Amino acid sequence: MAHLRALDGVQFDYVIVGGGTSGCLVAARLALELPNRRILLVEAGPDDSADPDNNVPGLTKGKFGSKDGNWLYQTAPQQELRGREIIYPRGRGLGGSS
Ligand SMILES: Cc1cc2nc3c(=O)[nH]c(=O)nc-3n(C[C@H](O)[C@H](O)[C@H](O)COP(=O)(O)OP(=O)(O)OC[C@H]3O[C@@H](n4cnc5c(N)ncnc54)[C@H](O)[C@@H]3O)c2cc1C
Repeated sequence: MAHLRALDGVQFDYVIVGGGTSGCLVAARLALELPNRRILLVEAGPDDSADPDNNVPGLTKGKFGSKDGNWLYQTAPQQELRGREIIYPRGRGLGGSS
């Protein structure tokens, strides 16, 4: 992974924003099918792919309510839940919410 500043002045044929499930798939597919094109995959979060908590399904649970690799969105108050707001986890890192 390169820091964005290291890419100053570098040109790309395709820029994909979001290295989640679909972004990684599109980038991998483009790289395979168009090997001579320059492809940039931009991800806001870190590369935690070596973290066992991200690789073992039973261990990911602890991350749902934490800011670790998580945008930790919150819903609007839900009328049907007596106005409660619900934590809405979305992955922030390479691999996204997958
Ligand atoms: C808790 C949870 C459990 C799930 N369980 C299942 C399941 O069991 N089976 C199933 O099929 N699906 C499941 N899903 C759904 C599945 O993970 C998503 O549908 C899928 O990951 C969506 O892919 P995506 O590429 O659209 O978004 P994501 O995978 O969320 O990727 C979006 C990426 O964009 C990045 N990003 C956002 N804004 C910016 C920005 N401005 N600049 C750079 N990067 C940015 C994010 O950090 C993220 O990495 C689950 C989702 C969650 C949250």
